[in-house]
Amino acid sequence: MNLTYEEFNLACAEDQKKYIFRGFLLIKELTSYKLLTKFNLFSNRYYEDVSFKEFKDDILAKNKKQLVEENDLEYFVMKKIRKEQGFLRKQLFNHNDTYKCAICGKEYPVEFLWCSHIKKREKCTPEEKLDYKNIVVPMCKFGCDDLYEKGYIGVYNGKIIQLKKINNSNINNYLKNIINKNCLFYNSTNKKYFDEHLKINTEP
Ligand SMILES: [Zn+2]
Repeated sequence: MNLTYEEFNLACAEDQKKYIFRGFLLIKELTSYKLLTKFNLFSNRYYEDVSFKEFKDDILAKNKKQLVEENDLEYFVMKKIRKEQGFLRKQLFNHNDTYKCAICGKEYPVEFLWCSHIKKREKCTPEEKLDYKNIVVPMCKFGCDDLYEKGYIGVYNGKIIQLKKINNSNINNYLKNIINKNCLFYNSTNKKYFDEHLKINTEP
């Protein structure tokens, strides 16, 4: 790809007033994240190889945030999310090129699947976030992940059920195809997370 110096420097904005890049051999990590974000270069196929220790340390590091300057926070958070996803994806997809969506059951290349938290990630305790064998399942990017995440569907006793109505015929057609299907990844150890998702999305 071709980038002008101006574009490059704008993307790395925070340091822009202090100095401009004229060339580099290696750029620091935060700056790399800024560039990758700005030009949408993050790969959906490649994620870092993250060990359980790194995954755990990141989840349990509560005060790290405060060490980061405010304008770097966005990149810090993104880095954390990508690291966590990297670990979860490795565990879940185990180097398979394709996998099935837990909701629609269709098989897709893994770049079209998320490792979706069964119970909303923000609502998880650190222990639940660390329960990587049970807290995530694959959900496709073609609708299932969003419908589940936004609480339109849930899983009750292993079956996909509708939780909210929506006035849109395209979405209703999509829902028709998945309601009452068996959730492929439902089991006795992740049941509690599906139940919590139901509870969170059905409470007034
Ligand atoms: Zn799906």
